[in-house]
Amino acid sequence: MTRVPLLAGNWKMHKTVEESRAYARHLIDLLGADPPLGREMVVIPPFLSVWAVCRQFAGTGFQVGAQNLDLGREGAMTGAVSAYHIAEAGARYVIVGHSERRQFFGETDDVVAEKAKAAHAAGLSPIVCIGEREDEFDAGKTEEVLSRQLAPVLAILPATAWERVVVAYEPVWAIGTGRVPTPAQADHLAGFIRQAIFSAVGQTAGAVRILYGGSVSLANIQTFWGMPDIDGALVGGASLKAADFARMAAVPLE
Ligand code: PEP
Repeated sequence: MTRVPLLAGNWKMHKTVEESRAYARHLIDLLGADPPLGREMVVIPPFLSVWAVCRQFAGTGFQVGAQNLDLGREGAMTGAVSAYHIAEAGARYVIVGHSERRQFFGETDDVVAEKAKAAHAAGLSPIVCIGEREDEFDAGKTEEVLSRQLAPVLAILPATAWERVVVAYEPVWAIGTGRVPTPAQADHLAGFIRQAIFSAVGQTAGAVRILYGGSVSLANIQTFWGMPDIDGALVGGASLKAADFARMAAVPLE
C-alpha cells in the first residue's frame, strides 16, 4: 500500500495569531501552493490560530491540525474545544496523547483512545502519539509501553477507521532534548507498531502512516524518513521557523 509521506509541525504554545499567519504566508512564498515531492505538510498551531492558518492556506495543498481536543460536541464545558469545532474551522488533523498532555494534564491511555474516536467521528485524522519514558527505555520496557498505549485505541476504533489514523512514535526522552534513538531503533519500533495494528485490524495496517518524533532537525530528518516503516516526522522545536520546515519537507530520501 502506498502511503503519502507526512511532515507535521507541532508548535506547542508558540506564536500569536499574527505570527501564525505570517508563518503560513512565508511557507507559501517559499514552496508555492503545494508541498514538495508529493508529500503532505501539516502545520499544528495553538487553538487560537487554527482558523487563521486554515484561511491563509485556503486554495493550497497545506493542511492544518490542532494539538488537542476535548470530549463531547457542544455543551457546558468551560474552556473546552471539541473535535467538531476543530473540523468546522477547516483543520484535518488533531494530535491526541502527546506526552506533554499525558504528563502535565494527566491524560490516561483510555482518555487518549476516547479522543482518537471523537476525532475520527468528526472527520478528522487523529495523530496518536505513543512513546516510552526514559526509565521505561532503560528498563527495556519500550515495546510493553507501546502495546499498552496502543491497546485501547485498537479496541475503540473500527478497522476501517485506521485508513485515516496516523501514529507518531515519540520516545519521551527524545522530545526537546537533542537526544534521538538510532534510525534503526526507531524503524524497528515503527515496524512493531505496524505489526500490532495488523494483528488487530489486518491489511488496513498497511495504510497507517507512522511518524517518528523527538528532536527531529534538518540535520537528522533524512536518516529517519528514509527508513522503510517510517512515513514522516512529527517535529516540534525545529518546525517553528518556516524556512527550516520548508527545507525539511524538501529533503531527498536515500
Ligand atoms: C513534539 O513535541 O512532538 C516533538 C517531537 O518536539 P521536538 O521536535 O522539539 O523534540
